[in-house]
Amino acid sequence: MDEEFKKEMGNKSSLEKIHGACPSSEDNADLAQKDCDHDWEAISQPPVAEATEANKELIDKLGNKASRSGQKRGYAFENRAIEDNLPKMNLVSAGAEYKCKKCGQDQEVDVVGDRQIGEAKSTNAKQYRKKGKQRKRLRDIQSKLFDPSLPPRAKIDGQNEDHQKLKEMYEKSGFEVEVVN
Ligand SMILES: [Zn+2]
Repeated sequence: MDEEFKKEMGNKSSLEKIHGACPSSEDNADLAQKDCDHDWEAISQPPVAEATEANKELIDKLGNKASRSGQKRGYAFENRAIEDNLPKMNLVSAGAEYKCKKCGQDQEVDVVGDRQIGEAKSTNAKQYRKKGKQRKRLRDIQSKLFDPSLPPRAKIDGQNEDHQKLKEMYEKSGFEVEVVN
Protein backbone atom coordinates (compact mmCIF):
# COMPACT_ATOMS: atom_id res chain seq x y z
CA MET A 1 0.00 0.00 0.00
CA ASP A 2 1.55 3.35 -0.97
CA GLU A 3 1.64 6.55 1.06
CA GLU A 4 -0.93 8.35 -1.07
CA PHE A 5 -3.40 5.54 -0.72
CA LYS A 6 -2.99 5.49 3.08
CA LYS A 7 -3.48 9.26 3.14
CA GLU A 8 -6.60 8.95 1.04
CA MET A 9 -8.01 6.31 3.38
CA GLY A 10 -7.20 8.50 6.39
CA ASN A 11 -9.00 11.46 4.82
CA LYS A 12 -12.13 9.53 4.07
CA SER A 13 -14.38 11.72 6.19
CA SER A 14 -13.21 14.93 4.53
CA LEU A 15 -13.54 13.19 1.19
CA GLU A 16 -17.14 12.32 1.97
CA LYS A 17 -17.84 15.88 3.04
CA ILE A 18 -17.00 17.28 -0.37
CA HIS A 19 -18.60 14.34 -2.18
CA GLY A 20 -21.40 15.63 -4.35
CA ALA A 21 -20.08 19.17 -4.17
CA CYS A 22 -17.08 18.78 -6.44
CA PRO A 23 -15.90 22.27 -7.46
CA SER A 24 -15.92 22.58 -11.21
CA SER A 25 -14.27 25.96 -11.86
CA GLU A 26 -10.69 26.12 -13.14
CA ASP A 27 -9.51 27.67 -9.85
CA ASN A 28 -10.69 24.68 -7.91
CA ALA A 29 -9.66 22.06 -10.44
CA ASP A 30 -6.55 20.96 -8.54
CA LEU A 31 -8.41 20.64 -5.27
CA ALA A 32 -11.25 18.80 -6.96
CA GLN A 33 -8.92 16.32 -8.63
CA LYS A 34 -7.06 15.72 -5.39
CA ASP A 35 -10.07 15.08 -3.19
CA CYS A 36 -12.68 13.95 -5.70
CA ASP A 37 -14.23 10.50 -5.41
CA HIS A 38 -13.94 10.14 -9.18
CA ASP A 39 -16.90 9.05 -11.27
CA TRP A 40 -15.16 7.66 -14.38
CA GLU A 41 -16.51 7.32 -17.86
CA ALA A 42 -14.80 6.11 -21.02
CA ILE A 43 -14.51 8.97 -23.53
CA SER A 44 -12.46 7.06 -26.10
CA GLN A 45 -11.97 3.31 -26.49
CA PRO A 46 -10.23 2.72 -29.81
CA PRO A 47 -10.23 -0.85 -31.08
CA VAL A 48 -7.02 -2.79 -30.53
CA ALA A 49 -6.09 -2.88 -34.24
CA GLU A 50 -6.33 0.91 -34.48
CA ALA A 51 -3.90 1.37 -31.58
CA THR A 52 -1.33 -1.13 -32.90
CA GLU A 53 -1.47 0.47 -36.37
CA ALA A 54 -0.98 3.93 -34.87
CA ASN A 55 2.05 2.65 -32.93
CA LYS A 56 3.52 1.12 -36.11
CA GLU A 57 3.11 4.42 -37.95
CA LEU A 58 4.84 6.27 -35.11
CA ILE A 59 7.72 3.78 -35.18
CA ASP A 60 8.12 4.29 -38.96
CA LYS A 61 8.00 8.08 -38.58
CA LEU A 62 10.76 8.06 -35.98
CA GLY A 63 13.08 6.36 -38.48
CA ASN A 64 16.56 5.38 -37.38
CA LYS A 65 17.54 8.47 -35.40
CA ALA A 66 19.52 7.32 -32.36
CA SER A 67 18.01 10.10 -30.22
CA ARG A 68 14.56 8.60 -30.79
CA SER A 69 15.45 4.99 -30.03
CA GLY A 70 13.93 5.13 -26.53
CA GLN A 71 10.64 6.44 -27.89
CA LYS A 72 10.60 3.80 -30.64
CA ARG A 73 11.25 1.09 -28.12
CA GLY A 74 8.31 2.33 -26.05
CA TYR A 75 5.85 2.02 -28.96
CA ALA A 76 7.23 -1.37 -29.99
CA PHE A 77 7.02 -2.64 -26.41
CA GLU A 78 3.43 -1.45 -26.16
CA ASN A 79 2.53 -3.40 -29.31
CA ARG A 80 4.22 -6.53 -27.98
CA ALA A 81 2.28 -6.15 -24.72
CA ILE A 82 -0.98 -5.72 -26.64
CA GLU A 83 -0.36 -8.90 -28.66
CA ASP A 84 0.52 -10.85 -25.53
CA ASN A 85 -2.47 -9.53 -23.55
CA LEU A 86 -4.96 -10.03 -26.37
CA PRO A 87 -5.93 -13.59 -25.35
CA LYS A 88 -4.95 -13.30 -21.65
CA MET A 89 -7.12 -10.28 -20.85
CA ASN A 90 -9.63 -10.60 -23.66
CA LEU A 91 -8.71 -7.09 -24.84
CA VAL A 92 -11.43 -4.80 -26.12
CA SER A 93 -9.39 -1.60 -26.52
CA ALA A 94 -5.90 -0.12 -26.38
CA GLY A 95 -4.91 3.51 -25.79
CA ALA A 96 -8.27 4.29 -24.15
CA GLU A 97 -9.12 7.54 -22.39
CA TYR A 98 -11.24 7.95 -19.28
CA LYS A 99 -12.53 11.13 -17.67
CA CYS A 100 -14.12 11.92 -14.32
CA LYS A 101 -17.64 13.29 -14.77
CA LYS A 102 -17.32 15.36 -11.60
CA CYS A 103 -13.89 17.04 -11.70
CA GLY A 104 -12.70 16.53 -15.30
CA GLN A 105 -9.56 14.57 -14.38
CA ASP A 106 -8.51 12.40 -17.30
CA GLN A 107 -6.53 9.21 -17.39
CA GLU A 108 -5.15 7.19 -20.27
CA VAL A 109 -5.29 3.40 -20.07
CA ASP A 110 -2.85 1.39 -22.21
CA VAL A 111 -4.89 -1.81 -22.45
CA VAL A 112 -8.53 -2.53 -21.58
CA GLY A 113 -9.77 -6.09 -21.12
CA ASP A 114 -13.29 -7.28 -20.38
CA ARG A 115 -12.58 -7.53 -16.62
CA GLN A 116 -9.21 -5.82 -16.15
CA ILE A 117 -7.09 -2.87 -17.29
CA GLY A 118 -3.33 -2.79 -17.77
CA GLU A 119 -0.22 -0.70 -18.30
CA ALA A 120 2.71 -1.37 -20.63
CA LYS A 121 5.93 0.36 -19.65
CA SER A 122 9.43 0.41 -21.04
CA THR A 123 10.21 3.86 -19.61
CA ASN A 124 12.83 4.18 -16.87
CA ALA A 125 11.95 4.12 -13.20
CA LYS A 126 13.04 7.70 -12.53
CA GLN A 127 10.33 9.05 -14.80
CA TYR A 128 7.75 6.81 -13.20
CA ARG A 129 8.57 7.51 -9.57
CA LYS A 130 6.45 10.65 -9.80
CA LYS A 131 3.52 8.84 -11.34
CA GLY A 132 2.07 7.48 -8.10
CA LYS A 133 -1.10 9.52 -8.60
CA GLN A 134 -1.54 7.97 -12.02
CA ARG A 135 -1.20 4.47 -10.60
CA LYS A 136 -3.78 5.34 -7.93
CA ARG A 137 -6.21 6.55 -10.62
CA LEU A 138 -5.73 3.34 -12.61
CA ARG A 139 -6.50 1.25 -9.53
CA ASP A 140 -9.57 3.44 -8.95
CA ILE A 141 -10.78 2.83 -12.54
CA GLN A 142 -10.16 -0.91 -12.12
CA SER A 143 -12.26 -1.11 -8.95
CA LYS A 144 -15.10 1.14 -10.13
CA LEU A 145 -15.57 0.11 -13.76
CA PHE A 146 -14.11 -3.40 -13.91
CA ASP A 147 -13.90 -6.47 -11.65
CA PRO A 148 -13.05 -5.01 -8.19
CA SER A 149 -11.64 -8.36 -7.05
CA LEU A 150 -8.87 -8.12 -9.68
CA PRO A 151 -5.82 -5.84 -9.57
CA PRO A 152 -4.81 -3.76 -12.60
CA ARG A 153 -1.90 -5.32 -14.50
CA ALA A 154 1.44 -3.84 -15.49
CA LYS A 155 3.82 -5.24 -18.07
CA ILE A 156 7.39 -4.00 -17.71
CA ASP A 157 10.26 -4.12 -20.20
CA GLY A 158 12.90 -6.44 -18.69
CA GLN A 159 15.55 -4.93 -21.00
CA ASN A 160 15.29 -1.69 -19.08
CA GLU A 161 18.01 -1.32 -16.46
CA ASP A 162 15.50 0.06 -13.95
CA HIS A 163 12.91 -2.68 -14.41
CA GLN A 164 13.33 -4.06 -10.88
CA LYS A 165 12.60 -0.65 -9.31
CA LEU A 166 9.70 -0.13 -11.64
CA LYS A 167 8.30 -3.55 -10.70
CA GLU A 168 8.47 -2.71 -6.98
CA MET A 169 6.74 0.63 -7.53
CA TYR A 170 3.83 -0.94 -9.36
CA GLU A 171 3.56 -3.77 -6.82
CA LYS A 172 3.43 -1.26 -3.97
CA SER A 173 0.56 0.44 -5.78
CA GLY A 174 -1.40 -2.81 -5.92
CA PHE A 175 -0.69 -3.93 -9.49
CA GLU A 176 -0.08 -7.46 -10.72
CA VAL A 177 3.31 -7.08 -12.40
CA GLU A 178 4.92 -9.09 -15.17
CA VAL A 179 8.45 -8.42 -16.40
CA VAL A 180 8.84 -9.30 -20.08
CA ASN A 181 12.15 -9.95 -21.77
ZN1 LIG B 1 -13.10 13.43 -10.10
